[in-house]
Amino acid sequence: MSKVHNPRSTLHALAPLGQGTPDVESLTSYFCRLAFSHGMTAQKLADWVLERFDNAVCEKYGWHQRNLSSMSPESEQWAAWLSELTGVGALDRHTLSPWRSVLGTPGLAPKSDRWCPCCLAEDKANGTNPYLRLSWDIAPVNVCLHHKVKLTSTCPHCKRSNVRNRSTIVVPGYCTSCGGFLGDAETEPASPEDLWVARQVGLMLQEPPKVASTGLVPLLETVIERMADGRPSTFASRYGFSKSGISHWLNKGGIPALKAWLTIAGHGGIGLDKLFAGDIEGWEPPLVPMQLAIELPESPRAGIKSRELDWENIRAQLRAMLEEPEAVSVHQASERLGVDRKNLYLRANTEARALADRFLRHRASQGDQSQARLHAQIEQVLDERLGAGYEGMSARDIWNRLDPAAQAVSGIFRHISAVMDRRPS
Ligand SMILES: [Zn+2]
Ligand SMILES: [Zn+2]
Repeated sequence: MSKVHNPRSTLHALAPLGQGTPDVESLTSYFCRLAFSHGMTAQKLADWVLERFDNAVCEKYGWHQRNLSSMSPESEQWAAWLSELTGVGALDRHTLSPWRSVLGTPGLAPKSDRWCPCCLAEDKANGTNPYLRLSWDIAPVNVCLHHKVKLTSTCPHCKRSNVRNRSTIVVPGYCTSCGGFLGDAETEPASPEDLWVARQVGLMLQEPPKVASTGLVPLLETVIERMADGRPSTFASRYGFSKSGISHWLNKGGIPALKAWLTIAGHGGIGLDKLFAGDIEGWEPPLVPMQLAIELPESPRAGIKSRELDWENIRAQLRAMLEEPEAVSVHQASERLGVDRKNLYLRANTEARALADRFLRHRASQGDQSQARLHAQIEQVLDERLGAGYEGMSARDIWNRLDPAAQAVSGIFRHISAVMDRRPS
């Protein structure tokens, strides 16, 4: 197999931290470190990226109001832009956007910015850059699993809150108001219940969910079947949900909030990672005391199919496109494969950038060739007229004698003058 040429990235290929672990870095944090590594403010980098992708820059809008780590399509777009510019793929794994089809929005975003002071202090002691964890941006998570302490939200030095990253210049781990180290904060021990939640969310964050939005109803039906004998009303009253809420999930495309998933996981004795992977074939919920020992029926829904795309195959197809005699653009590749451009940059970064690079060169050389042909045609007209004894011709005279395609070229009079200027008079 031929090696794919990896074009130089526009921004530093800064390595994101904690990928594939419960301690995965948030995109907000990555973005701040990226700006810092370029000697830019976060605000400047945000404006620069927006301009580069032809988006209007709003003066009044601070970069941090964009909430880069959230579940929104905007976060996913930023991840794709940064993947394109840095050459680092899968940056959407540093946002909550992969969970958009399985997690409802209510109750997901914390009211203020939090952090574990012990994590920041440990990063610093290890000689690495302190960084912000994605889990700190998930409201139901109130504690740090490693240090078994509560997250904190006020600066130990100036006692202010929301001083973690809401500023033009941010160095993760340091107060944006007084500059003090946020790892100095004192904190309290975590309760076992909170630690359980943090563990569940940590497992969830390790891997993107595999159940697509189309698989959510079968998954919920299986949950209700196993936990309440298939009766939604029993399920609702047993676990404290409203009947209309359950009906909303099953019939109207409603998505359970993280709290609801945690209730299911807690009572069902199954991890959020397994639920979101649709990995429930062998799952048997523990029998609750009031329940009689009922034989659990064989699930007709066993083995909900994962809708993951086969990226190995897609990458191989992209590599094949790189070998085609005609340069293929990323846009064309995305249409042929039925995979959107954003995802190509996120999941097949090297191949997508190599395609873009080849296409750009091809277009540039095509431009050179057509310009050379045009100039030759102008030269020829000039030669003919001069040969026929004409002198002092105007650009308009030349233009009249070009073929219609050449006449239609934009900036044609500039080309004619350039050729005329080049000729010895
Ligand atoms: Zn910690
Ligand atoms: Zn402070």
